[in-house]
Amino acid sequence: MAGEIYFKMARERRLHLQTISGLQRRVEELEARLDCYHTNQSTIPPIQITPQIREWMDEFGLPWEVFYCYDHKQWADELDNSFPYYSDNQCPGCRGNT
Ligand SMILES: [Zn+2]
Repeated sequence: MAGEIYFKMARERRLHLQTISGLQRRVEELEARLDCYHTNQSTIPPIQITPQIREWMDEFGLPWEVFYCYDHKQWADELDNSFPYYSDNQCPGCRGNT
């Protein structure tokens, strides 16, 4: 009987340890992504920053990546309605495709 409880506890312990290591991996993954984001902030944009983009960067304190459309390789010219809480910003190319 006592042995049964022991194995039950041991199994529970193992499950918790698995959960912990899963969460730990997730945390490391997110930290890696955040670091990557941080590093990218100092990279040079692929196209020249326009005065409008510079203004938005200063106004919102955000890096150029936020305003760059990777799909169409140009600057967004329209900010999302809920920006900066949500940043589905659009470039002229985005609108042409929708
Ligand atoms: Zn676009």
